[in-house]
Amino acid sequence: MTQDVNRYRCDLRDIRFLLFEQFGLGDLLGKAPYQDWAREDVDAVLDGVYQWACDVIGPLNAVGDRVGCVLENGRVKTPPGFKEAWRSLYQAGWRGLGVSPEHGGQGGPMAVALMASEMMSGANTAFNMYPGLAQGVGEVITAFGTPAQVAAYTRKIVTGAYGGTMCLTEAHAGSDVGAALTRATPIGDGKYHIDGTKVFISGGDHDLADNIIHLVLARTPDAPPGTKGLSLFIVPRDRLDGSGSNDVITQSIEHKMGINGSATAVLRFGENGNCVGELVGTEERRGMAQMFKMMNLARIGVGVQGLAVAGAAYLSALEYAGQRVQGPSIKAWKDANAPKVPILQHPNVRRMLLDMKARVEGIRGLIVKLAVHLDRAAALRASGGDAAAIEYHDGQVDLLVPVVKAYASDQGFQITVNAIQVFGGAGYIKDHPVEQHCRDSKVFSIYEGTNHIQALDLVGRKLGLRGGANLQSFLADLRRQAESLRGDPELAPAVDRMLAAGEALGQSAMRFLGWFQQGKTELIGLYANRFLEMMARTAVSSVLLEGAHVAARAIVADDHPDRAYYQGKRHAALHYAHLELPGVVDGARFMGEEMRHSLDIPDSGFGRLVTD
Ligand SMILES: Cc1cc2nc3c(=O)[nH]c(=O)nc-3n(C[C@H](O)[C@H](O)[C@H](O)COP(=O)(O)OP(=O)(O)OC[C@H]3O[C@@H](n4cnc5c(N)ncnc54)[C@H](O)[C@@H]3O)c2cc1C
Repeated sequence: MTQDVNRYRCDLRDIRFLLFEQFGLGDLLGKAPYQDWAREDVDAVLDGVYQWACDVIGPLNAVGDRVGCVLENGRVKTPPGFKEAWRSLYQAGWRGLGVSPEHGGQGGPMAVALMASEMMSGANTAFNMYPGLAQGVGEVITAFGTPAQVAAYTRKIVTGAYGGTMCLTEAHAGSDVGAALTRATPIGDGKYHIDGTKVFISGGDHDLADNIIHLVLARTPDAPPGTKGLSLFIVPRDRLDGSGSNDVITQSIEHKMGINGSATAVLRFGENGNCVGELVGTEERRGMAQMFKMMNLARIGVGVQGLAVAGAAYLSALEYAGQRVQGPSIKAWKDANAPKVPILQHPNVRRMLLDMKARVEGIRGLIVKLAVHLDRAAALRASGGDAAAIEYHDGQVDLLVPVVKAYASDQGFQITVNAIQVFGGAGYIKDHPVEQHCRDSKVFSIYEGTNHIQALDLVGRKLGLRGGANLQSFLADLRRQAESLRGDPELAPAVDRMLAAGEALGQSAMRFLGWFQQGKTELIGLYANRFLEMMARTAVSSVLLEGAHVAARAIVADDHPDRAYYQGKRHAALHYAHLELPGVVDGARFMGEEMRHSLDIPDSGFGRLVTD
């Protein structure tokens, strides 16, 4: 039993439903820029990645956790099997699914690439961080580098010859990235001496690739303070001309709560004054804007990590609940002779499982929705399509990125906690994967900008973009969707709740505007997370209810082979909407009361401070 419960699983049926039955990815296939992709190609990729994830990296997940990374003679050794997995990954080409063929990739839709990423992260999230970060570095260089930089780095990264990292954080500059002090001093020919120390760098060193390309945020002489003064540099670990070390020293690696297979390093650049980097592109002080390109994709990637680990934890818990026999059915609870039943038959275990299913499928749906906005924008660009339509899709992506990052990561962790609860004591010990899933997933709400930073990005930047048109379009879509769902009587009460939630969101967005105008910025900081959560619950409900409607159309015949799957979608949608949407309306009311207890409590009212 243990063997089976511990195997990695992903719900390919649900992925196919979202891609093809709900979000209509099929419309985009066979046309630019996805002209070389057909439905069969997507199916083959999904099956292939799933098989690879189960066979190659899934079995290394616990090994990575238990053995972890080791720093030996200044170099990081990754856990056993990671090197072979890296080679096998790049041979299979799974990493380049969404990368253009011009740069060595397969040019597929982002929706497919992200679903492949779900499987890779779900099977082994620590391993998947190495190629994930490298891909992000390739994307930044492709987008902003000079032709010579693209030629020197991109293909090598896409094919796995080089790894990559993103070096923002310094000991005193975490959320406050603009406080970074690493210096870049020009030495001519577009080159700079780099001098500084970066901390918490994922994949900061490893033995998987021939070289590692660090993207380093640093400050040039006379640069203004804050993020405006930051420039971005390409800093290879080893010199490209074969002359050896580029004076990048791995000082230490962290001992962490989870993702132990991923090396998190303190990197010292220029200890001996010999670290040379080159500016990305030709213009200084563009670092944050360039990094943002990578950060957007990386933030979606972290949302996918949350989904992936939660999805794996849910399916393990489901499998276990079907096998673990404990106690009689509650219908016979006073009968000592009643047969014992699998815990799946107990109402509270069913409730926990349905709750997990609804959240996993809702978050997956939200991620596919975001990806399809990206893909539709790309298709419109490729065909010279309508500028307003492109702007609409881009705007929805802008709006949804912080929501996906924060909600998927918070909920992802919570779902793994619930998976442990379903397992009972067996979930708390290391024989089963759920305790690792729980430890691995905590960091998702912290890195790539903490979830509070995401909430500030949403209310402080994204709501106001394009004069507020992005949120207006989101709410208009909700109303249109409600019209088409109303004809489905079983869904109607939930649809009414969704409309009320949309109203509440609109009012709360206006409240933020009022607070901005009245200078009540403390309230913005206080309520930003709540607003993000309200928006996430509304968006997830809309995705689930739409899916439930599609599912109803599919269950026409009593003997439909997938009848139970479609029924499951409807139950999950209704469970989630009725449970989560009332909180959106309550949240708006609560914001209206401008409750300030967290602000007004005196510092010493929290308890005796150590410094008293
Ligand atoms: C395992 C791991 C891997 C990482 N990988 C990388 C990497 O590859 N590259 C990289 O550059 N960094 C990486 N990081 C660093 C990560 O991005 C930072 O930890 C994160 O940005 C938070 O910074 P901090 O830890 O300094 O926390 P702090 O910024 O000190 O934040 C502490 C708390 O205060 C809150 N807070 C901080 N400032 C504000 C504010 N102005 N307003 C309101 N609340 C605030 C935060 O939300 C948080 O709750 C990694 C971290 C970890 C743990």
